[in-house]
Order: sequence, then C-alpha cells, then structure tokens
Amino acid sequence: MHNIIERIAERADFLAGLRRDIHAHPELGYEEIRTAGMVAKLLRDWGIEVTEGIAGTGVVGTLRSGKGRKSIGLTADMDALPIEEKNIFPHRSRIPGKMHGCGHDGHTAMLLGAAEYLSRTRCFDGTVHFIFRPAEEGGAGALRMIEEGLFSRFPCDAVFGMHNVPNLPEGAIGTRAGPITAGTTEVSVEIRGKGGHAARPHLAVDPVAIAAHVVTAAQLLVSRFSNPLAPVVLSITQIEGGSSPTIIPESVTMHGTIRTFSEASESALKDGLVSVVNHACAMFGATGKVHFNPGYPPSVCAREATALALDVGRSLLGDAAVFADIEPTMAGDDFSYLLSACPGAFLFIGNGNGHHRGTAEGMGPCLVHNPWFDFNDALLPVGAAYWAHLAETFLAAGNGVTTTVDPR
Ligand SMILES: [Zn+2]
Ligand SMILES: [Zn+2]
Repeated sequence: MHNIIERIAERADFLAGLRRDIHAHPELGYEEIRTAGMVAKLLRDWGIEVTEGIAGTGVVGTLRSGKGRKSIGLTADMDALPIEEKNIFPHRSRIPGKMHGCGHDGHTAMLLGAAEYLSRTRCFDGTVHFIFRPAEEGGAGALRMIEEGLFSRFPCDAVFGMHNVPNLPEGAIGTRAGPITAGTTEVSVEIRGKGGHAARPHLAVDPVAIAAHVVTAAQLLVSRFSNPLAPVVLSITQIEGGSSPTIIPESVTMHGTIRTFSEASESALKDGLVSVVNHACAMFGATGKVHFNPGYPPSVCAREATALALDVGRSLLGDAAVFADIEPTMAGDDFSYLLSACPGAFLFIGNGNGHHRGTAEGMGPCLVHNPWFDFNDALLPVGAAYWAHLAETFLAAGNGVTTTVDPR
C-alpha cells in the first residue's frame, strides 16, 4: 500500500466518525451551517487559514508551505438532498425529509482527511486551497462562489473535484480529458387547446392528444436529428392536465430535461423542440409555449490537468485501479462552473458494489439519490490520500503541471 494511504488510514476511524456525523445531520443547499461550522473548526484546529461565508455557507481553507508560487484548489460539496432516508443503521439521518443520498458527506470527509494530513506533513511548495462548496444539488453553489470572488481571492493554477460513483470498483479512480458531466437544461411546455365534453371532441381542441404527438416527435429529435456521435438526452418526465374522464381540458403542461455535452447540441435540441411544439399545435389548432430554464454547463476536463490526475492515481493505486478514459455521465454537477473559470479535472472514485453495507442495514447496492444509499467509508483514506498526493505532486518544488509523479 502507498505510504500516504497507510498514514492516512491511521485516521480511518476518525474520518469515518466524521463522515457518519455529517450523514446523520444532513443540510440542504445554502443551509449547511452545522457542516460548514464543523469544517471551519477542524481546519482552524489544524492551523489552516479559514475563510467562511463565501456563497453563504461555503468555506475555503488555505494552507501554504515553502516559497512556491503555484496553487491548487481541491474541492468537495457539502449539501444533502430532500429525500426521506430509509436506511436503519445508527448514523441514518436524524432530520426528517433530508438525507445525504449523493455521498457529499463522504466528499467533505475525504477533503478534511487530506487537509489534516497536509497540515501535519507540509511536504509541498506552494498553496493549497481546500474549497468546501454549498448547494451542489441544483443551487449552483460553485457559481455563487465564483461570483463572490473565489478565484480572485484564492487564485488557483488548477482546480480538481471528485464524486463517488456506485458500481465503479471500490477505491478506483476514473476521469477523462474533455466533457465528463453533461450540461443540463430544464424544459417546460404548455399546450393550450379548447376545453369541452369528451363525447364531442370535434367541438374542442384536445391538448392531451397534441401533447402525445409532442412527446413522440421529441424522441425523433434525439434519434433522427442529432448526431449519434454527440450524446444528447431529452426526457419528458412530467405531464399534467385533465381532471375527469369526461372533460377535455383547456391545457396540458409538460416538464423534462435536456442533457448535452456541447452548446451546439443544446441549442439544436432546444430549437428542435420549439419547432415540434409549434408545428404540432398548428396542425391541430392549439397554441404552444416552451420555456427553458438553464441548469449547469458541462464539466470539461483540461488535458494537462487530467493527465496529471491520472498519473497521480496510478502512482498511488496502481494502473489497474485507474480508468483513464472513463465513460462520461449525462448527470450534471456544478463543479463545471469551476472548470469554466480555471483548468482542472473532475474525478470519479468507485463506491464499490455495495458490499460495505451490513445485511441488517437495508437494501443495497444502489445508485446515488436513492433512499437506501450510503457512502462507502473504505474510500475515506483512499480519497484523502489521493487529494494529498495530488497536491504534493502538483506543488512539488519546481514542478510543472504535467510533471510525472514521484515513485512509489
Ligand atoms: Zn446528487
Ligand atoms: Zn453529488
């Protein structure tokens, strides 16, 4: 086992306790007061300079060593989800309707593990910014941190983020140069017809029938009008309309999501959807409105930073545990805003196949955002060691971004 993992593994129980404490006290986006307070206190205890209140509950810890001018940003998200947890283990959520169902409790604990280690060892030459982000789950906390001067107050030559992924082998690391998480856009469609009696459809304009055309035609936008080599998703996930079997309603509203890896794909899909709605409505005498609510942009990993991140993974974990061209995900992550402002990479760390869950602890394995999800504590020393090794490598005296890492 690599020396750094061994040394951080001595703190495995402390890190697991920390992670479970955060898990038991989940806080939604911009409400991470307890979590941020705990993060700030620990960083201060370890002699790290702390800035609180950036983007509300965001925290940045800054650790300097030597005279090097380079700096690296390592990040973790802190927020939980509005899910009622079903797990029955002792560290289950104490807060009704809130749960760490995406593993951000683990991300926070891993970064704290690295901060503690680096504050004790200080074997680097430069500055490490530990960036604890609020409101990843839809609240664009990373964007707000940038708007409140994250990179002007805490300049970074490269920034890195990490997210656990169920079903990737436990403790394995994966990333890729280029897009790794998708750009997201919420879609709302309203179709307004003319209400009437279900027995006399010829005297009404039925928005339900037109909505069915829109959903069907929208799938053709993906399968027939989009380049198959540029992945896109268009999911209509909600249809609302009607109140009785005998009433043709006045209107139907639909909601869904668009996922793409480029602005060109996104705008083509949006234009296509507007055209489908307008033409379907015109065909049958209704009127349609489409509204787009922009979500997160795609996360695009920089080539040099990705190469370094992979080299660090191989040095720490061996070649077999590193996936150099991992399949990207159509899920979004607001870490993308940081990558839009600073070169860097977003990494996946394997949460394993679910065997970390006790048999009496409910169902598993499962995906994130599932009420049975739990972060795998075995990752804590691995992820923390990865962050520490990345910082030491990036900030090794005289090193450039693509410098190879020290031998095991
Ligand atoms: Zn999530
Ligand atoms: Zn997440």
